[in-house]
Amino acid sequence: MLVYILPFVSIVLGYLIAIFFQPKNKQNLKLLLAFSGAFLLTITVSHLLPEVYYHEIEKEIKTELVAKQENHNHHDHSHDDHNLSHDLHNHDSHQVAEVDNHSGHNHNHNHGSLKIIGLFIMIGIVFQIVLEYFSRGAEHGHVHIHEKMSKIPWALFISLSLHALLEGMPLSHQNNLALGIAIHHLPIAIILTSFFMQAELNKKSIFLFMMFFSVMTPLGTIASEQLSFLNNYYTEISAIVVGILFHISSTIIFESSEGHKFNLAKLIAIILGIILGYFV
Ligand SMILES: [Zn+2]
Ligand SMILES: [Zn+2]
Ligand SMILES: [Zn+2]
Ligand SMILES: [Zn+2]
Repeated sequence: MLVYILPFVSIVLGYLIAIFFQPKNKQNLKLLLAFSGAFLLTITVSHLLPEVYYHEIEKEIKTELVAKQENHNHHDHSHDDHNLSHDLHNHDSHQVAEVDNHSGHNHNHNHGSLKIIGLFIMIGIVFQIVLEYFSRGAEHGHVHIHEKMSKIPWALFISLSLHALLEGMPLSHQNNLALGIAIHHLPIAIILTSFFMQAELNKKSIFLFMMFFSVMTPLGTIASEQLSFLNNYYTEISAIVVGILFHISSTIIFESSEGHKFNLAKLIAIILGIILGYFV
């Protein structure tokens, strides 16, 4: 249940914090961003990424077992035939040759399907880069537009929603990641809401924007559980999300250290994010 609630609550909380407290301290927000980026990246590399590979290997072993079983049945059958006309020595050498053949096949096959995961991760990175042409980097807490807003910025809305929807999909297998997404979206929600208020977007539009944004991640989780089409492509979709999270979290960490000047508070925030992310 927390898998659906956490990513939703964090955005609502961020919205309320921005509305009621109107945080003026940009430095604290930057620290929270740095923490969330490190936290999200740690969960991605220590939970989601190994799980994607594990799934693929598991799938591979299952198909191998089925293939072996079929092979074996077939062999047993021919073995009976053999017994009628041939001696045991012939049969033994036949078996050895078959085992050698099979292990050779195993190695090649596994390598190819695992390599594909790397390609899907890169697709995720490129996909997020393209999304940011439309959102101007709002996913990693970057807002650039300076003029006043009279209506909902639709390009931002669509790209941000798509981003949040995709992020919800691996959560059906990866409950740990829900907290990572929640922590990552909390400062984003605070920054976006504050930004909209500064741009004098009307209150109703801000509310609607943030509410739609908050249900996108749980919606992605439900969709990946209910739609068998998405379930069948769990590995591919999750690998794409790994790419998205790689890009987002490393950009957050990168942008939070301006000019690569030494900043103890930020360094501590990042290390804290790594430690907590590891023990989730
Ligand atoms: Zn195989
Ligand atoms: Zn940026
Ligand atoms: Zn996100
Ligand atoms: Zn799984």
